[in-house]
Amino acid sequence: RQEQYLKLRDVPSVTKDGVEVTLQLNAGLLVDLPHLGETGAAGVGLFRTELQFMIAERMPTATEQQSLYSAVFAAAGDLPITFRTLDIGGDKVLPYMQAVEEENPALGWRAIRIGLDRPGLLRAQIRALLKAAGERPLKIMFPMVATCDEFFRAKELVQRERNHLSRHGHAHPSDLKLGVMLEVPSLLFQLKEICASADFVSVGSNDLMQFLFAIDRENRRVADRFDPLSAPMLRALSLVAEQANASNCLATVCGEIGGRPLEAMALIGLGFRSLSMSPASIGPVKAMLLALDAEKVGAFIREELEHAGGGDSLRPKLARFAETH
Ligand code: PEP
Ligand code: MG
Repeated sequence: RQEQYLKLRDVPSVTKDGVEVTLQLNAGLLVDLPHLGETGAAGVGLFRTELQFMIAERMPTATEQQSLYSAVFAAAGDLPITFRTLDIGGDKVLPYMQAVEEENPALGWRAIRIGLDRPGLLRAQIRALLKAAGERPLKIMFPMVATCDEFFRAKELVQRERNHLSRHGHAHPSDLKLGVMLEVPSLLFQLKEICASADFVSVGSNDLMQFLFAIDRENRRVADRFDPLSAPMLRALSLVAEQANASNCLATVCGEIGGRPLEAMALIGLGFRSLSMSPASIGPVKAMLLALDAEKVGAFIREELEHAGGGDSLRPKLARFAETH
């Protein structure tokens, strides 16, 4: 199997009916970067910057952050990288940061909320990213955004850092793209505004599932209670793909569902043309999409979604479609 997938490394990821789907990697440490060459992935679609913070014994300095990002750029060569700003809090605790006692950490003070309340931390990270990028293109996205306003504030902060660096004679990224992670359901009702103001959106399906169904993703008793291939989740994802495509805003899925062939098939059917996943998933997902007719699966899933009742899972039907096509 592994060898078969290796053979697909340089095969363009295009469906049978000619639809190009960009497959990228999720990464978080420098040791993940060699997977780019091994898998033939088109870039890093999600670089989880919090990993450097989680394995450190104290807060990484601005210089340490910058040197990691520079090394990541160097290792990626010409391939694009999407850096996600610090996603801490919730299940991602930094041992050296004063613990905040919260009843519901997943719904608490975390990710962009910390970034906006403690702008010093976010600013230092943004500056490190801008400096590491130099003149290279740079993509930054923000985790756990719940309102457009939070994104506007984050954008403003980036702009200020950029101006500051320019004034001091530093190089500019030739192309700076700012995106939003779609993980909080409230954004589903601000899609038009978000897609008009963000350069891209990236669905964090792990958290979106958690918040859409109110199931703790770390709690085995409930985590698998609902299926990402159920009508409510697929309808939510369909709204994202539709609005993003209509606004010419790139939509990626970087949560775990993008790396499972059947789920990836459904996502392509819903209109997603970019997926980011763990390195081991690239081969199986590419093998699936090379055999896929995107148009057909799109028509099938739209028809099924129209008639699905309640919280029905479409998994059996999608599996049958996959077998017979
Ligand atoms: C997600 O929530 O789907 C995601 C990609 O982010 P993380 O798993 O790091 O929370
Ligand atoms: Mg998440």
